[in-house]
Amino acid sequence: MIDSCKSDFSPSPVTEITQFTIMISLRRISAQIASKGSLFAIRPLLVLRGYATSQDVSTLLLVEHKDKSIASSTLNAFTAASKLGNNITALVAGEDPGHVALEVSKINGVSKVLVAKDKAYEHGLAEVYAPLLASAQKQLKFTHLVASHSAFGKNIMPRAAALLDVAQISDVIDIESPDIFVRPIYAGNAIAKVKSKDPIKVLTIRGTAFPPVPVGDQAGVSSEAAPESEKLALTEWVSEELQKSDRPELGTATKVVSGGRALKSRENFDKLIFSLADSIGAAVGGSRAAVDSGYCDNAIQVGQTGKVVAPEFYLAVGISGAIQHIAGMKDSKVIAAINSDPDAPIFQISDYGLVADLFTAVPELTEKLKK
Ligand SMILES: Cc1cc2nc3c(=O)[nH]c(=O)nc-3n(C[C@H](O)[C@H](O)[C@H](O)COP(=O)(O)OP(=O)(O)OC[C@H]3O[C@@H](n4cnc5c(N)ncnc54)[C@H](O)[C@@H]3O)c2cc1C
Repeated sequence: MIDSCKSDFSPSPVTEITQFTIMISLRRISAQIASKGSLFAIRPLLVLRGYATSQDVSTLLLVEHKDKSIASSTLNAFTAASKLGNNITALVAGEDPGHVALEVSKINGVSKVLVAKDKAYEHGLAEVYAPLLASAQKQLKFTHLVASHSAFGKNIMPRAAALLDVAQISDVIDIESPDIFVRPIYAGNAIAKVKSKDPIKVLTIRGTAFPPVPVGDQAGVSSEAAPESEKLALTEWVSEELQKSDRPELGTATKVVSGGRALKSRENFDKLIFSLADSIGAAVGGSRAAVDSGYCDNAIQVGQTGKVVAPEFYLAVGISGAIQHIAGMKDSKVIAAINSDPDAPIFQISDYGLVADLFTAVPELTEKLKK
């Protein structure tokens, strides 16, 4: 241990739960340097004192689903929830959630399924989901409310936490005990262990940190109607525009090819990055600069304010490697980069690097990979 400091937050109802001591672990830093050989990979470990154990954990897990399928990130959240204990109730809401509820009932470790059937739940509006969660907690006294750290979970859980007057603990990457959670801070450059003193813990789970739970492992458990809750008509679902794609989903793909500002136009991005990705069956991502310049959609932004991915293989093309981008992909197993600047920071965290002009290297590589 090389350093320590204490951080006490003001005793407001929301912040008083996170009083923690910070220590930087030398062993972890050296391990990080050894594994990646780069200061970029240093992730000081913030250690919290005063571990506590807790019995009588009962978890309510909010299921995200679309087109009658459970979202893959929810399967990761189930694995996280199982670290809290075996008493897991799943909440499935929607206009016609029967099929998904049946699938969920077969997930290993689920003890009960609550079903909220109403048109109001069809589009995942936080204004109706948050009161549903709060009402279920108040009536059935859950100690933990869990959802994945997807756009769906990130939108709903803080509102549910506010209704219950407790803090929200975001982007959890490990669960040490029912009240101690591990989560990245400072764009993933430090890892904090947070002890919650709140009576109810509201968590969102980083999917890439937990393996998905297998579906269909147990005979279906019982389902019952979820407690009634207010369905405020403050917002109304108008419409959605979805892009259909046969490509792998970015959040769960085993290979990802991402393009940056260097692509210079949407045409180049489509032609070069999508062709390269298709040649190896990869999902496509983009840097924020590429998104902001209109070269690709913001649904595929990788990074601190975009998606967090951890594929087997990540290829960054014309991306400098800003800390906010790295926050979204540094846990990839193998990282490769193509960049014309040999000093680009992305090379510091790359396992393989090609110093080249992408406009010649990418078409060449794509042709070779196609063959
Ligand atoms: C609060 C906050 C949140 C942010 N969140 C994110 C986020 O989630 N994701 C994210 O990506 N960014 C995020 N950013 C932005 C981030 O700081 C960088 O600005 C951004 O990542 C840069 O994108 P880029 O690497 O594509 O562009 P640049 O930094 O402009 O890099 C372009 C790279 O392409 C190389 N290049 C140029 N021409 C060629 C060529 N012909 N062939 C090969 N290489 C070439 C250059 O050498 C350079 O390294 C955030 C910033 C802030 C402040």
